[in-house]
Amino acid sequence: MILILAPIIFGVVAYLAWRNRAVRGCRWREDRTGDRGALRKYHCVACGAEAFTATKGPPQSCKKGLGGGSL
Ligand SMILES: [Zn+2]
Repeated sequence: MILILAPIIFGVVAYLAWRNRAVRGCRWREDRTGDRGALRKYHCVACGAEAFTATKGPPQSCKKGLGGGSL
């Protein structure tokens, strides 16, 4: 049974690793002019996405898929 599941698990892990690598391609730039209270605005120069974070540092994920842009 485990021999059947192993390739499936490996495939899922490989997919997640690939997706994480795609997310890491984002280059977030802080946009102080767009700050809203405690939220800091970040602009991705790689895909043009915009995101707000309340934590320190840029967003962890890319918002590329939310804009309904090019697929
Ligand atoms: Zn991006």
